[in-house]
Amino acid sequence: MSLYRDEGVVLRTQKLGEADRIVTLLTREHGRVRAVAKGVRRTTSRFGARLEPFMHVDLQLATGRSLDVVTQAETIAPFGPAITGDYARYTVATVILETAERLAAEEREPALQHYLLLVGALRSIAEQAHEPGLVLDAYLLRGLAVAGFAPSFADCARCGVTGPHRFFSVPAGGMVCDGCRPSGTVAPKAETVALLAALLTGDWAAADASGPSTRREASGLVAAFLQWHLERGLRSLPLVERV
Ligand SMILES: [Zn+2]
Repeated sequence: MSLYRDEGVVLRTQKLGEADRIVTLLTREHGRVRAVAKGVRRTTSRFGARLEPFMHVDLQLATGRSLDVVTQAETIAPFGPAITGDYARYTVATVILETAERLAAEEREPALQHYLLLVGALRSIAEQAHEPGLVLDAYLLRGLAVAGFAPSFADCARCGVTGPHRFFSVPAGGMVCDGCRPSGTVAPKAETVALLAALLTGDWAAADASGPSTRREASGLVAAFLQWHLERGLRSLPLVERV
């Protein structure tokens, strides 16, 4: 067995045997990793609470034949309690963890940008920097962009002609010009398109200033865009309560 260090966020845990858990992590250097945490369900466990979902931890792992083994875990940021103590924060952060696992599809495939997006989003939710639904939509748009599905909110997603355009098409990948407009487009408010662009680029001053109906329309488009690209819907997304 060889040892290695990394830092990661706990995405999911599953029971294993009497006292152990399998922990799914998104790590900085090793991408998505599944590892056994021995004895963590015992009350005497040294690091049980550190290996709960949402926790950001510094880890030492031992490589195993099929699953690695967590040999040390130190808390970097205890996002767990701040997130699980509030229903809106919890449901949003749950969608983010589930999406992170889907986007980092290959085990042990380094996914640094996905990792940094994940840590940033969880910190933003735990510190209540912005309305949780906005953080979620920013995370989803950027995560899809990192995965190669960057939506276009200005120029035509099909032919590239300079915007602004009126119509949004999920299959086409964003706003489309009148000439490229396929069937099944929607015509979102200009404020909604501006909010989506602000979320994608990280213009939080503009995003924070948006109104509830604009946020609601933007969330609907983000959800449609996400589900199109992930092929099947995310289980937890319908649970999110929108303002
Ligand atoms: Zn066009």
